[in-house]
Amino acid sequence: MIIRARTVLTMDGPPIENGAVAVSEDRIDDVGKFSEVSKRYSGQEVVDLGEQALLPGLINAHCHLDYTCLRGKILRQRSFTGWIRAINAEKAKLSPEDYVRSINDGFVEAKRFGTTTIGNLTGFPELVARIQAPIRTWWFAELIDVRDPSRANEVVDLAVEKLRATDRWGLAPHALFTASANLYRRCEEIARREKVLLTTHLAESEEEMSMFRDARGALYRFLKQIGREMSDCSEQTPLALLSEILRDSSTSVGMTENWIVVHLNELVDDDFDLLASSRKKFSVIHCPRSHDYFGHSSFQFHKLRELGFNVCLGTDSLASNDDLSLFAEMRAFRKGFPNISPEEVLKTVTVNAAGALRQENALGKIRSGFAADLIAVPSARSTSVFQEVVAFDRPVGWSMIGGRFQNSA
Ligand SMILES: [Zn+2]
Repeated sequence: MIIRARTVLTMDGPPIENGAVAVSEDRIDDVGKFSEVSKRYSGQEVVDLGEQALLPGLINAHCHLDYTCLRGKILRQRSFTGWIRAINAEKAKLSPEDYVRSINDGFVEAKRFGTTTIGNLTGFPELVARIQAPIRTWWFAELIDVRDPSRANEVVDLAVEKLRATDRWGLAPHALFTASANLYRRCEEIARREKVLLTTHLAESEEEMSMFRDARGALYRFLKQIGREMSDCSEQTPLALLSEILRDSSTSVGMTENWIVVHLNELVDDDFDLLASSRKKFSVIHCPRSHDYFGHSSFQFHKLRELGFNVCLGTDSLASNDDLSLFAEMRAFRKGFPNISPEEVLKTVTVNAAGALRQENALGKIRSGFAADLIAVPSARSTSVFQEVVAFDRPVGWSMIGGRFQNSA
């Protein structure tokens, strides 16, 4: 089959005017000018999308569909710790059925906004078998052992047992303040053995920085009060501490390319020295609207990019965001960084995000041999096509995942 559109944004070279993509089964076979592709594939069915831009399906590199049902439920808190207390209170009201519904609703919404691949953290790996993900999904088990760190290995191993049957999975020690050093190390050990991805929240809030570096603040007090062993809170930044926990002889920063590090808002000069010295460059996920919701310190996009880190966008959960649209996320990102070109912004949810999932040779571009995950948005020639795509603010009307047409929104 040949799909023709006014413009094809391959994310693999300049836009192709009057372009076409040949799709065979679940893969892209060819891409180029319509006149050339139609010659090479003469006799094939042609789907003409008309005045639209055809682009790779979007990739949400970080979200928690568990909490889709918490949209609008948690008002902005004065502190990050206040938000943790508030979400814990909301979570206590939810049953497994509520979570299944919430995850399914989240999938529908993400897909409606043109997301074809998602890196989704779930606190309930046992529910994954009950869910038919309608888009390409990496399931990360979100792991916490703060109330009983002696169970670190057991917590990880139980999650692995639940997720192993799924096609794409990984492990997500929640954060340094809720997951023990042993839990992080166990995840690293299993990820090496099973060749799966790892993700964690790191250096998100000023309160997390105060807790680990200064042994004080609201988060420190809260965790001490629930019985966390606080001896790791001593003059180290969160980045330095995690680097130390995971460090081996091959790397100064312990996190390798298989790590997807979420947030990284709180970084001091020493942290940047540490990052600069690292030969391994992990991926960093920025969640612009969740970032704004909490009012975190400015995200250091330019510095991180200059140091060679792969920066992507994620929506985070609807407990700190309004919807699961990556288009809205791109616009929020541009608001914070108006000098970044719309093309570069689009990379954070296509090429870069594919790299974070170690799918740089399969997803995020329209290229021969890549998965046929495509979306189309109207393109009226009024402005630059990348600008048009980033400005798009409705449900996506046409999409294809693995070569299969999806129901229109
Ligand atoms: Zn998150």
